[in-house]
Parts: sequence; C-alpha cells; structure tokens
Amino acid sequence: MLCPKCGKEMRKGYLFSSKDGAFSFANEVPGALENAKHAEGFVKLTGLKVGGRTSVPACCCDACRVVILQYRKEAEEL
Ligand SMILES: [Zn+2]
Repeated sequence: MLCPKCGKEMRKGYLFSSKDGAFSFANEVPGALENAKHAEGFVKLTGLKVGGRTSVPACCCDACRVVILQYRKEAEEL
C-alpha cells in the first residue's frame, strides 16, 4: 500500500484496541448513551473480542502520520 500523501511504501501492521474495545467508523463520534449503530455513516470495522485485543490489518506511514486500514467483510456479521 502506498501512502496517499507522500507516495512511499507504507509499513504493514495492525491497528488494535484496548482489551475490550471494538472499532467503528461514522461521520461523527456518537454520544456515550447513543446507540452507535444509528450514527450517520456508521460502519462496523471490527467486532468485540472478549479476552483479547480487537485488531484489523493496517498500513502506517510514520512520516505523514497516516494509518490506512481495510476492514474485513466478516466484521459486518460479528
Ligand atoms: Zn506518507
């Protein structure tokens, strides 16, 4: 994966969370009491992983501080 900012090859790795978290994406961060799934533009990136760290393969450019991730299709079913 090439960095969209500088065009150099990005470093491969994983974006991971605290031990009980899960990642999602939306237009804005929903409030704590709001059901996140109802946020506009909601996309579930990972499921919950009890007892482990939620992770998703990602590429990182240290120079530009850009991380790009590709979420798995399975995440939608978790
Ligand atoms: Zn870059």
